[in-house]
Amino acid sequence: MALTGIQIYKLLPQTNCKDCGDPTCLAFAMKLAAGKAELSQCPHVSDEAKSQLAEASAPPIRVVTLGNGDAAFKCGGETVKYRHEKTFVNACGILVYLSNDMDDAKVDAELKNLYEVSFERVGYTLAANGAYLADAKGDKDSFLALVKKVAAAGDKAIVLECDMDTLSAAAEILKGKKFAAAGANADNAEACIEFCNANGCVPVITADGMAAASEAGAKFVAKGSKEVLIDAGWTDIRSALTENIGARRAALDKKMRDVGFPTISFACKMTDDLFTEMAYANMLLAKYSGIVVISTLDPAVVLPTTVNRLNIYTDPQRPMTMDQGIYEINAPGPDSPVIITTNFALTYFVVSAEVEASRVPTWLLIMDTEGMSVLTAWSAGKFVADAMAPFVKKSGIEEKINHKKIIIPGYVAQISGEFQEELGDGWEVVIGTREAADLPKFLKDY
Ligand code: SF4
Repeated sequence: MALTGIQIYKLLPQTNCKDCGDPTCLAFAMKLAAGKAELSQCPHVSDEAKSQLAEASAPPIRVVTLGNGDAAFKCGGETVKYRHEKTFVNACGILVYLSNDMDDAKVDAELKNLYEVSFERVGYTLAANGAYLADAKGDKDSFLALVKKVAAAGDKAIVLECDMDTLSAAAEILKGKKFAAAGANADNAEACIEFCNANGCVPVITADGMAAASEAGAKFVAKGSKEVLIDAGWTDIRSALTENIGARRAALDKKMRDVGFPTISFACKMTDDLFTEMAYANMLLAKYSGIVVISTLDPAVVLPTTVNRLNIYTDPQRPMTMDQGIYEINAPGPDSPVIITTNFALTYFVVSAEVEASRVPTWLLIMDTEGMSVLTAWSAGKFVADAMAPFVKKSGIEEKINHKKIIIPGYVAQISGEFQEELGDGWEVVIGTREAADLPKFLKDY
């Protein structure tokens, strides 16, 4: 059963040495209980406490890491049922289904999509996480050729579905890479665990229904498997949602750790219609698959699905922010106007889109206001003259322009005099528009 923050705190050294990066042992214990820290971050915990804490402080849904290097991603590790309760921790992985009965052109196109289709949004890179490879023909040679091709493309996650003989040969190709292998079950547990331990592989427990799959998963854990994925064989959305939701509730509400595994769901096997498949994939990533497998990574599928995932898996208590700095829009030069605003991501995107649409070359100064919008930041004392002036001075904008005029949002017109005074040195503060939508006209007339 999971321990509370206070129970964890009692097992820590209680020296408040800060080596874990937190100011106190209590703060670290609270993070550990919430699944937002790892025990290994405290170098001083005793071996005895370590063994008590390791299992107890693990999140109710176990964590699985797939992929390698910068392409690695985690799934599972969740501590709440609803995003608004706290936050979800690890975004659901998105894999594309590839098999050796597909023609080369399809495989090549999807592999290209896997590594080339990505979108930048509010400072995040949105892309799929890997490929699920199935030996659909029962043909070892063509399957190994597929594995070789996908492995050579990069470090994104690979899950293999094939028989044991083919799996051993595939493991040679994937030597040094972490991957997952489907087909583990209660009957072959010993052999699977041995194979997985020897090859750095995560077992995917394949069974008919969540109850059988999680029962087998618990056996793997009892025999020492640290990471386990569950494939409960769902071929319809109703079963997948019902069992995913039931397992999440049981793991979190009833503290039933034996069902606390990240699951893998196949939206691509539930329908032949791509729009329906997309709807299913998006339902499954919200409730509560650890990994969703889809049939294509066409940009028209990846964009809405990854944006939806981003919306679900970002912390609702932390506003999305942009990095503080100077942003160049429409290739500005020394004569170009300078606009200053806050680093709330929505503010940035609305303002930058309007400036871009105006086609007027412009410098956009984004100031760190902890993600607050203009009026909120002003009323919180973060977007005020004596904070803005030092930022402008240190930003380096003066070296890029041959004038000293800066445009502020119309909503904070009241700070213009004080801001100009704080800037001094011949600066002129111009009051801009209240609404971003009015910026194109304002800039054209400027
Ligand atoms: S490193 Fe360990 S002992 Fe030091 S403050 Fe963190 S939890 Fe406490």
